[in-house]
Amino acid sequence: MPSQGHTFDPWYSSYATRTLGLTVSEVRALFAVASRPEVVSLAGGSPFVEALPEDLIRQAFERMMRDHGPEALQYGGGQGIPQLREKILELVAIEGITDVSPDDIVTTTGSQHALDLVTKLFINPGDVVLAESPSYVGALGTFKSYEADIVHLEMDDEGLDPRALEQSIRELRAAGKTIKFLYTIPNFNNPTGVTMSAERRREILEICVRERVLVLEDNPYGLLYFDKPAPDAIRSMDADNVIYLGSFSKILSPGVRVGFVIAPHAVREKLILAVESSILSPSTFNQWLVTEYLNQADWRAQIDTYRGIYAERRDTMLAALSEHLPQLSWTVPNGGFFTWVSLPESLDSKQMLPRATKELVAYTPGTGFYADGRGHQELRLSFCLPTPDRIKLGVRRLANVINDEMEL
Ligand code: PMP
Repeated sequence: MPSQGHTFDPWYSSYATRTLGLTVSEVRALFAVASRPEVVSLAGGSPFVEALPEDLIRQAFERMMRDHGPEALQYGGGQGIPQLREKILELVAIEGITDVSPDDIVTTTGSQHALDLVTKLFINPGDVVLAESPSYVGALGTFKSYEADIVHLEMDDEGLDPRALEQSIRELRAAGKTIKFLYTIPNFNNPTGVTMSAERRREILEICVRERVLVLEDNPYGLLYFDKPAPDAIRSMDADNVIYLGSFSKILSPGVRVGFVIAPHAVREKLILAVESSILSPSTFNQWLVTEYLNQADWRAQIDTYRGIYAERRDTMLAALSEHLPQLSWTVPNGGFFTWVSLPESLDSKQMLPRATKELVAYTPGTGFYADGRGHQELRLSFCLPTPDRIKLGVRRLANVINDEMEL
């Protein structure tokens, strides 16, 4: 038993063993430093909500209170309000999901909540979750908090490698492991920005169906494409083997904390029970606000506005990288918030961070996106929040740090 915990926390020995997986995320620890105004933060993943006209929210709020006040202020059901679930059908149809009814949907408090619920439903300590390498730090944290064994699968510029998936399933089963699901972010992956090709989606799904491995498809960025839309969702090809997570955080606002799950029928029933046991019901107030926003605002045009802004920022960031760090390589995202930069072997993104923040630029070290200790030669840059001028300044500062470190 580590003694330090005893010193600071009198309840240390009482916590459940699963809390050992609850560690401070590197991203969260970074927020304190990166939020100082003089620091150019290329670290977080916060959307540029300043691009959302306040009037659109005010009007939605007023209509909600005028037409649905008592319901919006009251408890609701564990599955979420039917009016919002009905509107979600329009959203998911854009990504090819057309075989759903409102009854197939469960609304949640953001998709992070959905990740927690799904993990709670499926994971016993030691069960395997397959994930891309690298993968979303928040999901890895959730999987760890339920004591999952996270196994990363190799990916390339078309996404997850189907051969690596097949081989891992074979090896893990031969070693007596229980594989519960494959967690994937097929569109504009967090952290790499990479998108899984249509062909790969078919292959991956086919393997998972054959091997009876559930697919947990996490898609908060799918509608935020730049040059061309992403291929249809994996869920559009299969209703029985895929749990699909969606969110309003990136296309509207993360402050409203509204997300949703589309799940096979039996899983959906379990999910509703899990919602009820954790929070009784997702916020009716926020669900009504989102519903009224979708009812009256031109939400498609608002998504286009976001896309235009992020595309310009992506272009600015990639141009600045080409100008100041031509010796490095990075991914070219066709949507979303992030690019993933590979460093030379002599550099360590985690060790370099204090130096970078001293030079007034922050990024996210690659290490948080792996559960197996990798990521020291990689880092994530986000272009969602800073203005183009700040992006240029941030990359210039980062280049100074990297170039200096390389000379040492
Ligand atoms: N999944 C991914 C891949 C994400 O990047 C995020 C947010 N950064 C989430 C889930 C959680 O989003 P929210 O809870 O705001 O819907």
